[in-house]
Amino acid sequence: MLKTEATLEISKEAMTRYGYKVVDAIVAHFDTQNSKLPVASATREEMDRLFSEAAPERGMDPDNVLQFVLDEVMTKSNVVSHPRSYSFVPGPSNYISAMADSLASGFNIFSGGWAASPAAAELEIVTMNWLLKLFGFPVKRGGGIFTSGGSMANLTAIITARKVKCGDDFSKAVIYLSDQAHSSNIKAIRSAGFKKEQIRVIPTDSEFKFALNKLKNAIARDVLEGLQPFCLIATAGTTNTGTVDQLSELATICKKEKIWFHIDGAYGAAAILSKNGKQLLKGIEKADSLTVDPHKWFFQPYEIGCLLVRNHQWLKGTFTEKPEYLRDIEGNTSEINFYDHGIELTRRFRALKFYMSIKTFGLRTFRKAITYNIQLAEATETVLRKSSHWEVISPATLAVINFRFNPIGNRLSEKKLDALNQYISKQVVDSKQALLVTTVLNGQVVLRMCLINPRTTIQDIKETLVLCESFAAEKFTL
Ligand SMILES: *Cc1c(COP(=O)(O)O)cnc(C)c1O
Repeated sequence: MLKTEATLEISKEAMTRYGYKVVDAIVAHFDTQNSKLPVASATREEMDRLFSEAAPERGMDPDNVLQFVLDEVMTKSNVVSHPRSYSFVPGPSNYISAMADSLASGFNIFSGGWAASPAAAELEIVTMNWLLKLFGFPVKRGGGIFTSGGSMANLTAIITARKVKCGDDFSKAVIYLSDQAHSSNIKAIRSAGFKKEQIRVIPTDSEFKFALNKLKNAIARDVLEGLQPFCLIATAGTTNTGTVDQLSELATICKKEKIWFHIDGAYGAAAILSKNGKQLLKGIEKADSLTVDPHKWFFQPYEIGCLLVRNHQWLKGTFTEKPEYLRDIEGNTSEINFYDHGIELTRRFRALKFYMSIKTFGLRTFRKAITYNIQLAEATETVLRKSSHWEVISPATLAVINFRFNPIGNRLSEKKLDALNQYISKQVVDSKQALLVTTVLNGQVVLRMCLINPRTTIQDIKETLVLCESFAAEKFTL
């Protein structure tokens, strides 16, 4: 009988010991993350020196490999869940979801088709229904799919819009988005095969929202030229400033012109759980498709993004291919095969972490956390406005605030202010005490805080500002 020793197994005792070590390390991380340094940086050279090697032909002691990884690998990333990790979009995460991900991997659940994992498909349907309801989409007719993140959700949306609006000939199709739209949209549009000439980047107004008149002009001109305006991408919470485009007005324009209305809510959509956010996000329910990114403000660990659509048939009509080898696993129509609703066939069980964390904490806890985040940004704005050193450049909106160091009585040129704020950011990051990088708004270099971590306190922010001021003081006397 043919038999192999190479089954990649270890004994039950060894699995248990190893598993406990891993869990202990994760628990220790959650327990101490607030007091770690948020910033890790290393050069390619340093990393090569540590890690570069040929794939070993012979295996090593598992404990040694694990210990090496815990000591050297896990310590050399930014702690994006740190309360003073303010930049980009932080990843606060939560322990329940991290454990859920371990279960999904541990049981290696194939979340592609109904027949392979009815419960996984059902949980994706159930959690998707939670989201549809939350965003005011039709629950019966609507649908959606979990993706790796917001970028894949936007790509899925654009391909769906293209299919539904243009069929197979999209040579005359034109797509609209604002200059504050996230770069993943342009990447998706280009990946979907559109030429640069088919993309209209519309300028924004002083509040960083779509300049509506310019948008209307662009659409009218394209129609006159015999082109086909087919899709508009609005942003519900821009990454830069948290700004929400004029969703209701844009919905009206799209309806009138028969344009697909996609909303990129990867950053801000989760704010619908708060009173203030719900107000700001009015009109989000009018989208044809909506990107939500649970690994941002729904506090999930990477990777989980989501695309919601008004009509689940759109996804099915766009992504269904029928190869012979999948013939036998077709269920009935209500038994959704998610491989027919998106690009991926083999998919990890992403719904599980969303399901378990919402069941465990309840929506109420998410509402409270998100409401706190929004209020914390507003409290930060108050602190900044009361100080003679700081200038608010873009007010607190959906937990994002942009500001710069610009002390009263020191008339610095714009160029000097840019350099000074760049310097402050660099010094702060180099100190590893906080992750605070710059962005550019209206040509000005500004510091940006994205405050979606519920463990961040106003004390964290005040101390970070003091740190900034101490670096500024190196440049000139305050
Ligand atoms: C983060 C973000 C994306 C991209 O999402 P990923 O999960 O990083 O792929 C898209 N749009 C907006 C507005 C974002 O903030």
